[in-house]
Amino acid sequence: MKIAKVVVDVPTRQTDHTFDYEIPTEMNVEKGMRVVVEFGHRKVTGFVIDLAEVPAYDGKLKEISELIDEKPVLNREQLAMADFLTKEFFTFKVSNLWLMLPTMLKGKTEKFLIAHDFSDPSLENIFSAGPVKYDLRSFTSDQIKKIKKGISNNQIEVIYGQSRQITKKYTEIINLNISKKEIPNQLEKLSKTNKYGRLFWETVEKEGSPLAITHLTKEVGIPRRVLNKLVQEGTIEIQKVETYRKPLSGFAHKQLKELKHTKDQTRTIDQIAASLKNPEVFLIEGITGSGKTEIYRSLSQKVINQGKKVIILVPEISLTPQIISFFQQTFGERIAVWHSRLSRGEQYDEWRRIKNDEVDLVLGVRSAIFAPIKDLGLIVVDEEHENSYRQTENPSYDARELAKWRGKYNSCPVIFGSATPTVTARAKAEKNVYQLIKLDKRVNKNGHLPEVKIVDLRDPSVRSKSLVFSTPLKKAILERFKNGEQTILFLNRRGYANFLECRNCGYTFNCPNCDVSLTLHLYEHKMICHYCGYSSEIPQVCPNCHENDLRSFGGGTEKVEEEIHQLNPEIQTLRMDRDTTSRKGSYQKIISQFENHEADILIGTQSVAKGLNFPDVTLVGVLNADISLNRPEFDASEVTFDLLTQVAGRAGRGTIAGNVIIQTYNPNHYAIQDAKNQNYEWFFRQEMYVRHLYGYLPYYYTIFLKITSKEEMLALKTALQIKETLEKNKEAQTEILGPAPYYIKRINNEYTYQLSLKYKKDELIKTTLQEIMSKTQKNANKVKISISHITC
Ligand code: ADP
Ligand code: ZN
Repeated sequence: MKIAKVVVDVPTRQTDHTFDYEIPTEMNVEKGMRVVVEFGHRKVTGFVIDLAEVPAYDGKLKEISELIDEKPVLNREQLAMADFLTKEFFTFKVSNLWLMLPTMLKGKTEKFLIAHDFSDPSLENIFSAGPVKYDLRSFTSDQIKKIKKGISNNQIEVIYGQSRQITKKYTEIINLNISKKEIPNQLEKLSKTNKYGRLFWETVEKEGSPLAITHLTKEVGIPRRVLNKLVQEGTIEIQKVETYRKPLSGFAHKQLKELKHTKDQTRTIDQIAASLKNPEVFLIEGITGSGKTEIYRSLSQKVINQGKKVIILVPEISLTPQIISFFQQTFGERIAVWHSRLSRGEQYDEWRRIKNDEVDLVLGVRSAIFAPIKDLGLIVVDEEHENSYRQTENPSYDARELAKWRGKYNSCPVIFGSATPTVTARAKAEKNVYQLIKLDKRVNKNGHLPEVKIVDLRDPSVRSKSLVFSTPLKKAILERFKNGEQTILFLNRRGYANFLECRNCGYTFNCPNCDVSLTLHLYEHKMICHYCGYSSEIPQVCPNCHENDLRSFGGGTEKVEEEIHQLNPEIQTLRMDRDTTSRKGSYQKIISQFENHEADILIGTQSVAKGLNFPDVTLVGVLNADISLNRPEFDASEVTFDLLTQVAGRAGRGTIAGNVIIQTYNPNHYAIQDAKNQNYEWFFRQEMYVRHLYGYLPYYYTIFLKITSKEEMLALKTALQIKETLEKNKEAQTEILGPAPYYIKRINNEYTYQLSLKYKKDELIKTTLQEIMSKTQKNANKVKISISHITC
């Protein structure tokens, strides 16, 4: 008997157990394929993760009802990766398996037929109304014969998906066989304007039927009927060729001139290349502009020349057109990109290109670590310190851990690169777990490190009438404008004002669903909750005392823009935050506008701080360094130091030296002082001291459990029960803190309590957590538990 071990996708009670199903004799089932099986009284999707000859228990096995895939959608490495995730991040195996598939293959799906090739014109009848459901009962026996023949000739494809999603892009080529027969004058004319007698149409289709005929009817005014007849005679031939939707197709790329490597670059490339056979994990600690990206490119080329492949991870925010085109200059079509702005179709096509071995290098954000790329020879994680490598929502994971895992699995080197490595990575390098490579010189000798000035906002002498600018910053901004130089202003808060308050009675406007105040957005004329999206009109008078004395506090990016225009209406500004970049292409547009000097000042949140390279920017202003410093997270200092260092790196990239002005109420904090002095080493020592004092990474690993419910008492009670269970099943050294209300206790009318676990080595508590997770899912509707395991 042949048996498939299946992980079933059951949303109410997800489970990691595998269930045995008998494989019907005519079914070619392989590991990594999806199947439909009967589970309880329902039919559900499942993944075949193993095959066996002997069932795990005696008893009658059910047969697999249906085989979804003709080829495995998951490979061995991905199946093993899902196991690793389950153990390390306490997530459900089935959720991990879904993580590795493009969106188009998810959700409630059915089998559809898609036609690629209409060389047999009678197929058009079958496909005239879009993808056809694969229900053979709806066809005549003659049609069934044609379909089956079409499938075996690769003219027709069977796809499992949602009908609306099944879109592919084709180029339809119309060949006119002029020699063969007389053809209508209009067609002859058309073909003469084109010496090959060929016409092309590019279409994105939902339907399977060729659009070329429709186009032709319109263009030359010949009735459809006549054209169809010409097709049947073979005078007109229609070829359909699938063209992948390529997110890169809009990018112009010029050929790169070979760079002569600096000594630092050569030394680094040699050291890592030497380890290709005997792989290690490297930490490149290299200041911005020290030529790291060129090192990744050059090493990738070496690896690819040896017939192996590469994954390069970058944070979403720095996956800019600039870096994409840099890699494209060398690797052209053999690159796939992977990020959240891809359409479903583009994502699906990139995934298939990777799977079909048409790609040597994947450049993408954290989820690109799941790419089904074979024969990995190198993995790079750029900007290693970025928290965006950690997915906090379920299923949670850390792409940096997965990079190391895949490095081991494929026996290939892994590079972590950063100007400001996480203290955890740096501590590992001190212990020789990672090989440390330091690059402390900029490639471009003319590029100076900027001069950084701190403005103490507590000092009355620097205060101006403005809510957002101190006097020195205001002066600097106007000076740059006068000199025709560009400025970047960074404020990690979007909208106009943080909150609105009545000066008469003190009333503030809070979100009805969350424990936060509403943010004022003047452009949209709304007050918006940044947590649940609730919005309401901006009132004229206070709803409490009915006085007309409302005042806004705490500026956001909109406010900054307004104040700039008040300073000098001639200054042109661009604003880059979530509100101005939500439309496709808008982010790119702002970048190129600023590059072309269409604006003097770029104002923005996080995205202006990172990765961008504008040579003519000579001033960077940080409006409020305390926003990130005051976050209630163990790594708030590290995040602030990183951010300030990154922002400062935006100034003085060209020939003129740059200045940075940081406004803060905490001028003496070591994160701010060390950023001012660009002293990573000092920061590392001080932060290690603090981490040791409070028992955080790298001294202790941390696991955060968030317990959430609509009923506050239920959340608290569950948290207490979990704590009790964990206390009984842990190593003595492990500490459990809480439950404490999450820093915003109520979000969207759900209450969250948090437990924090600190451990050094504790397999017992990990197993206990896994057990807790599989049990509590039974009443998942009432209480949700999410776990984030902080290891990097
Ligand atoms: P990092 O990634 O460390 O910030 P980059 O690799 O982006 O640094 O290099 C900074 C700048 O220097 C880029 O404009 C890059 O094209 C240029 N550059 C890098 N290596 C060389 C080289 N060997 N010769 C000349 N220019 C270089
Ligand atoms: Zn809200």
